[in-house]
Amino acid sequence: MIVILKPHAEEKRVQALMEQIRGQGVEIHFSQGTTETILGLVGDTRHVDEDWLRASDIVADVRRVSEPYKLANRRFTPQDTHVTAGGKAIGEGAFAVIAGPCSVESEQQLLEVARAVRNSGATCLRGGAFKPRTSPYSFQGLEEEGLRLLLEARRVTGLPIVTEIMSETQLDAFADVDIIQVGARNMQNFRLLKALGQCRKPVLLKRGLSATIEELLMSAEYILAGGNDQVILCERGIRTFEPMIRNNLDISAVPVIKAKSHLPVIIDPSHAAGIAWMVGPLSRAAIAAGADGLMIEVHNNPRCALCDGAQSLDPAQFDALMGDVRRRVAFEGKALL
Ligand code: PEP
Ligand code: MN
Repeated sequence: MIVILKPHAEEKRVQALMEQIRGQGVEIHFSQGTTETILGLVGDTRHVDEDWLRASDIVADVRRVSEPYKLANRRFTPQDTHVTAGGKAIGEGAFAVIAGPCSVESEQQLLEVARAVRNSGATCLRGGAFKPRTSPYSFQGLEEEGLRLLLEARRVTGLPIVTEIMSETQLDAFADVDIIQVGARNMQNFRLLKALGQCRKPVLLKRGLSATIEELLMSAEYILAGGNDQVILCERGIRTFEPMIRNNLDISAVPVIKAKSHLPVIIDPSHAAGIAWMVGPLSRAAIAAGADGLMIEVHNNPRCALCDGAQSLDPAQFDALMGDVRRRVAFEGKALL
């Protein structure tokens, strides 16, 4: 971290500030130029508050030279992290395809979709039991009954299950879930992230609707800081000025996150596209960009879906896409395990 002092800052005040900074456990490299005085903070500056420094009237500017996330940072953990859930690996060459309905609607619906996606080669089953809906009048999910049906679908198909949590008060109810999903709307629910840091279960953390990549990595840092290193990141499209697509899939997030972090990153083309025909092209782009997996919404009867029917593939469309996915994943030197 670099602190640029205002010209003509009083010597006594500079010394006092340096004393306070050193008190926080960091060394200072002092540099007196002809026009500028610069303090280079050396060491672990994670706990040094930029705003506290800016509040000082002898400080002109503060710049971070290293990222504020340490545990999620590839610089400190160069090896790719791979996450294991229900016997399946994700990352480090293992490509995940998490498929299933947006929301669990009935036993018949879930089992039909679960069997279909398993037969087409999906590696995990998704399904929302608790749905974060924009309108309070929309279907909110089957809740506890939805969780029970997901466990039943896992027993029948053998697929690990992924489902979204809304609050830390639900952790006990999620005890048997294989991967806990944190939805885009909860990416900065810090109480929830802290609680997930305390549990020893893989977490699928989705990027917020308007979150930067650094904010996503800082949210992952919350979970890692609690001691849970099983975190998968998910790019699902961000809000932009473009109205022709539900969300703008930020495909560049994949190489950026891969460069900045060791955590696996998957793409959700369904919530980015908002429409089924675009899921194929976006999935192909995700694989080519180096993603570690895909999360795709599949419904046995998309036209009658209670949530996100327009973007859901039917089982035949999913099967056709999986043929292509398998070839492209192999071309990238990865495997669907
Ligand atoms: C979902 O995966 O069903 C979902 C609600 O996604 P997101 O949080 O990305 O909107
Ligand atoms: Mn959905």
